[in-house]
Amino acid sequence: MRKIWGIKKNTLKLILEVSKESYPKEFAGLLRAEKGVITEVMLLPGTLSGSSSAIFQLHMRPIDFTVVGSVHSHPSNSFSPSGPDLHLFEKFGHTHIITCAPYDYDSWCAYDFYGSKIEIEVVD
Ligand SMILES: [Zn+2]
Repeated sequence: MRKIWGIKKNTLKLILEVSKESYPKEFAGLLRAEKGVITEVMLLPGTLSGSSSAIFQLHMRPIDFTVVGSVHSHPSNSFSPSGPDLHLFEKFGHTHIITCAPYDYDSWCAYDFYGSKIEIEVVD
């Protein structure tokens, strides 16, 4: 079983709301988990304007073992990881979420270290 198997519905809702508010810019944040469930998103200040540079800075942060990976939004309708996204995934964390327009409950996807899609259950 994967280390991370779920995400709290409220956390996902917040991620989708912030994605929508940030549009047409990207937002980036870090994901924290407790007992295998993503419970918190930490928005990184100053990341709303620059997408790729913001993402790049993520893996340079100090090690925090409650941080399991990253989340960011795409201002397009594709949640497929870009080249730089894949590069980030393999350097940092093991669970990553990408959201895309229109930022509803179907417009997100989670990926592992290798950029392969993973199933994450939404829990209350
Ligand atoms: Zn991306």
